[in-house]
Amino acid sequence: MPFDLDRIRADTPGVMGTLFFDSAGSSLPPLPVLDAVISHLRLEAQVGGYRAAEMAGDRFAGVKQSIAELIGCAPNDIALLDSAGRAWNEFFSAVPFQPGERILTCRADYPSNAVNALKAHKTHGVSVEVIPSDEFGRVDLDALAAMLDDRVRLVSLVEVPTNSGLINPVRDVVELAHQHGALVLHDACQSVGQLPVNVAESGVDALSSTGRKWLRGPRGTGFLYVNPKTTAGLEPRVLGTSTTAWTSPDGYEVANDASRFEQWEGNIAGFLGLGAAVDYLLGVGVEEASATLRANARRLRAGLAQIPGAQVWDLGDELSGIVTFTLADKAVDSVVAELAGHSVSCHFSRRTSAQHDMAAKGLSAVVRLSPHYFNTDSEIDDVLELVADVASGLKS
Ligand SMILES: *Cc1c(COP(=O)(O)O)cnc(C)c1O
Repeated sequence: MPFDLDRIRADTPGVMGTLFFDSAGSSLPPLPVLDAVISHLRLEAQVGGYRAAEMAGDRFAGVKQSIAELIGCAPNDIALLDSAGRAWNEFFSAVPFQPGERILTCRADYPSNAVNALKAHKTHGVSVEVIPSDEFGRVDLDALAAMLDDRVRLVSLVEVPTNSGLINPVRDVVELAHQHGALVLHDACQSVGQLPVNVAESGVDALSSTGRKWLRGPRGTGFLYVNPKTTAGLEPRVLGTSTTAWTSPDGYEVANDASRFEQWEGNIAGFLGLGAAVDYLLGVGVEEASATLRANARRLRAGLAQIPGAQVWDLGDELSGIVTFTLADKAVDSVVAELAGHSVSCHFSRRTSAQHDMAAKGLSAVVRLSPHYFNTDSEIDDVLELVADVASGLKS
């Protein structure tokens, strides 16, 4: 199907009346997602949640099939969870770290990952070491190769950080890490829906992502992929009741696939919405979606570079759809607030969202614009004009 921007915008009620540039935060769901969620809630109200879940059985099973198709794995390798952070932690906390083992993380690290690694340092006596970056802020592969040894249990890799247009080289990191038997946990929260992601190609041991960002799914949804070979050796930190069988008064068995990381109770309507969001993306085309949103980001960056006082902070030749900038003499909060006053939805990233990278850049915050494939050139030009007005003090 050719990329049809008019149809996509007709499917996206949120584009009427806002200049929406916050898909890295929580994007606009298309109509099929709204329909999937609302119609299931209505069904629950009519027949009760258990019966409604039975009636949705095939469509519910289809959610994992759709995700599996999107990222190149089997449906049984997916656990449905309520957020990317939860997904990441379900895997991380199941790894039986031993004192003296090492965790390698990256300068693009995300707060919930970073603090849980620091907690593992406190509770398990592992070391947490940050892999240096190259001149663009990407994981430095030579430095990684030099750091790796047999004590490295896990490499925690954020592919696309929350606070810049950086893209980390997942597959290269996996190749190096696996030479030393280290696990690779891929934080793909800003990747899935934004970039093509394929776990069969990258070879990661586990991947976490969320519904509400680039996938345009509902809030409170996310998922974990675990390579079936890795799953076999990992028992979740907290066992769920349907994914663990209480087989005798003093015995239990955990599910033999990634569902062992799930809980029995969950937001069925939300997961059906997540499935609809994945199907929508597959209909748009992952490659087309990615190329379009990245072209939108390029147009934004090129325009920002022309605005006196504006500085773009995304480094590198291969950039994602996340565009970050500051305006000289203007507090980031007030830029975001002034833009919001003109119907622009965007966000900021603070130092506490990305300690390593923001420290390296000497910044306390950046304005973040994250265009999706549904944005138009004229919306981008409108935003650039508004930013230019804010920069020149015309709009204060
Ligand atoms: C948003 C984000 C997360 C956390 O996602 P939640 O669904 O809010 O838990 C993790 N990693 C990165 C890089 C993110 O941008």
